[in-house]
Amino acid sequence: CGVFGIYAPGEDVTKLTYFGLYALQHRGQESAGIATFQGKEVNLYKGMGLVSHVFNESILSQMPGDMAVGHTRYSTTGSSKVVNAQPAVVETRLGKLALAHNGNLVNTTTLREELLKRDCNLLTTTDSEMIAFAIAEQVNEGQDWLEGAIRAFHQCQGAFSLVIGTPAGLMGARDPNGIRPLVIGILEGSPQRYVLASETCGLDIIGAEYLRDVEPGELVWITDDGLASFHWSKEPQRKLCIFEMIYFARPDSVVHDETLYSYRMRLGRQLAADSPIDADIVIGVPDSGIPAAIGFSQASGITYAEGLIKNRYVGRTFIQPTQAMRESGIKMKLNPLKDVLAGKRVIIIDDSIVRGTTSRKIVKALRDAGATEVHMRISSPPVTHPCFYGIDTDTQDQLIAATKSVEEIGQLIGVDTLAYLSIEGMLKSTGEDTNNFCSACFNGDYPIAIPETVKRSKLI
Ligand code: 5GP
Ligand code: SF4
Ligand code: MG
Repeated sequence: CGVFGIYAPGEDVTKLTYFGLYALQHRGQESAGIATFQGKEVNLYKGMGLVSHVFNESILSQMPGDMAVGHTRYSTTGSSKVVNAQPAVVETRLGKLALAHNGNLVNTTTLREELLKRDCNLLTTTDSEMIAFAIAEQVNEGQDWLEGAIRAFHQCQGAFSLVIGTPAGLMGARDPNGIRPLVIGILEGSPQRYVLASETCGLDIIGAEYLRDVEPGELVWITDDGLASFHWSKEPQRKLCIFEMIYFARPDSVVHDETLYSYRMRLGRQLAADSPIDADIVIGVPDSGIPAAIGFSQASGITYAEGLIKNRYVGRTFIQPTQAMRESGIKMKLNPLKDVLAGKRVIIIDDSIVRGTTSRKIVKALRDAGATEVHMRISSPPVTHPCFYGIDTDTQDQLIAATKSVEEIGQLIGVDTLAYLSIEGMLKSTGEDTNNFCSACFNGDYPIAIPETVKRSKLI
């Protein structure tokens, strides 16, 4: 999901939030929502589909405010329905709170039972709503917003990057492992006005300047007095999702002081060094495989070419919920360039193979277009384990690399040769401490313990 928040009295926060969400559209395409605050009054509007489908000028103009919270969703818990769209708005003794969540809790069963025991009226089925209710409960028992939120966070296990609007101020918070990203930006002018967004591309679009990340286990509290920071977790340990770096986040977003485009190019260079092969051209699977393909070409000296053209108006295939939709989605999406491919030995680079569906279709399309050899190189390791922290990678049996060797996968998708990047290559290329990442979908090493029943729900 994508989350966004802005505290900027005097600005058109509603429209700025709309544009912020527009830039975060790739993080979720099922539903979109905005809540604006005018003192204690909250205007909420949400709907199914893309940000540009849900909102229009007239809707936005009826939602005035000094502060706003926005969300784009793809579902990992709770079904794809408008009641599950966010922000989740909950009433408390101090007024309403509006919460936007990115990530996935792993202790929802326990949390839900506890909340129901105490007569909470859960409206929907999402973990995000439970966080909102947990905060409301603390506030109603006498805590202020900050203490109430911190107490609620201690009840949550899993991944949560949150933006929470309250009548008293805007909150941004990350779980102790900082699995999902969250950044702080500043809007020019005086006094300073703050913006929160899942990625820096959500700041760029509204002309806000990147200040810093919200740290793992940190809560930032933005009011008229500026930004205050609280380190609410005693044991924060950075475990940023490596899939954000490889695939999920936009290539123009900045992580560790560089755009992800640069990181992804380095992955391609590493891949060329580790798994070289002779060929006539290197192509990438648009869009996510392109930076690594360029890096591969640079390191190998083999010409980079465009071999597949993507219809830019079709969304990311993996976000559509069913396999049938996914398959038809892929046909809609990519068209091979016959003139480029005919008679050529082709190296094709993609960022990942998850189910193998995309790859099989692409390889067939390349051969149909006249490629004489097809060598696939993947700029991440084999995906062997499902994610429980907010990336929708299905059950383990759906992951082609969970049960099959690289050679078997190569045969299944119909390539001449197949090679993946190593886990070390992927982590080393970050230039950061390799312990600072979650890479559980590649090695099963889950940084936050997963209850057995939850594990079983994804067949591991
Ligand atoms: P698949 O092998 O599942 O058919 O698709 C892999 C391709 O789709 C890659 O190009 C990758 O960018 C994208 N993709 C599809 N599903 C997912 C997913 O669940 N997670 C990630 N990270 N990428 C996916
Ligand atoms: Fe990211 Fe994979 Fe960890 Fe999930 S399991 S948070 S996708 S690295
Ligand atoms: Mg892709």
